[in-house]
Amino acid sequence: MIRHEQLTAAPKVLLHDHLDGGLRPGTVLELAGELGHRLPRTDADELGEWFVESADSGSLERYLETFDHTVAVMQNAEAIRRVASECVQDLAADGVVYAEIRYAPEQHLTAGLTLEQVVDAVREGFEHGMAHAERPIVARQLLTAMRHKARSMEIAELAVAYRDSGVVGFDIAGAEAGYPPTRHLDAFEYLQRENAHFTIHAGEAFGLPSIWQAIQWCGADRLGHGVRIIDDIRYDESAGDDGKVELGRLAAYVRDQRIPLEMCPSSNLQTGAADSIARHPIGLLTKLRFRVTVNTDNRLMSGTSMSRELALLADAFDYTLADVRWFAINAMKSAFLPFDERLAIIDTVIKPWYAEQLG
Ligand SMILES: [Zn+2]
Repeated sequence: MIRHEQLTAAPKVLLHDHLDGGLRPGTVLELAGELGHRLPRTDADELGEWFVESADSGSLERYLETFDHTVAVMQNAEAIRRVASECVQDLAADGVVYAEIRYAPEQHLTAGLTLEQVVDAVREGFEHGMAHAERPIVARQLLTAMRHKARSMEIAELAVAYRDSGVVGFDIAGAEAGYPPTRHLDAFEYLQRENAHFTIHAGEAFGLPSIWQAIQWCGADRLGHGVRIIDDIRYDESAGDDGKVELGRLAAYVRDQRIPLEMCPSSNLQTGAADSIARHPIGLLTKLRFRVTVNTDNRLMSGTSMSRELALLADAFDYTLADVRWFAINAMKSAFLPFDERLAIIDTVIKPWYAEQLG
């Protein structure tokens, strides 16, 4: 059994976390107060509960409404810097040693900021957060384009322009059904020509075609969620560990190529992509040694943290500290940070801590 304090202390690596999904409730309240933005609750604890309940409700409208409020209070540079700095400090306090945090710059333009000013504000906030965190952390940006909008090329160019200024990659997010990733092929082809990295939200609600397109048409380096890859794996659940497992061509490709899966268990329960932690595909995918990583997605809406996600998994699947280490190293290997910097974190931060604990 892992003690939960041990999970907070353990060095962790986070690849899939949304900046607009991780604000402190108290910060949302204060920023909304300054702007005169009306919120559904006026007490920080109650507001925090409101975010989780709305995300839990099973109604997509109520789920999306939560982001209307967080995005509304992130429209000026000062607010964005504050949210970005607090995000990094909160992750560090939870023992995250490396994080890639994503957001869609195009959603922060309503008060007159330019795309560049948004990226600069996040960069300044991350630098402030790294300098003031209680434990060492490295934080980098991923720039997200919205699948239903037509700005993906512009955002991809922005990611490349800022590749030496804290942006390590590109992502595409938003409703999968009706908006296949191939709609944004020009952006992905541009990024490939620029030797740039990208991940694609695929295979969360929507099934295998979305994963297949993301990898084989768009050339994604990683899969955001990718949980539906389970649909390409045949297994007899009732047979337990002795059951025969058969991988389809796509699942085999994903495993053979070591394509990282950015799995977000609690978030999947809220969106209905999985019905419980115990039955979440992450259990089988981990057993089959896919390149599984554990992530938070939206800490505010899921009321979660990296150590909480790992605690839920450890309780459901009897994971040990050795498994937690495997997740951390998987994620660090899959990061978009340059190879030498990844290796330095693995060799000087992650491995020594676990070696001391595991003996
Ligand atoms: Zn996400």
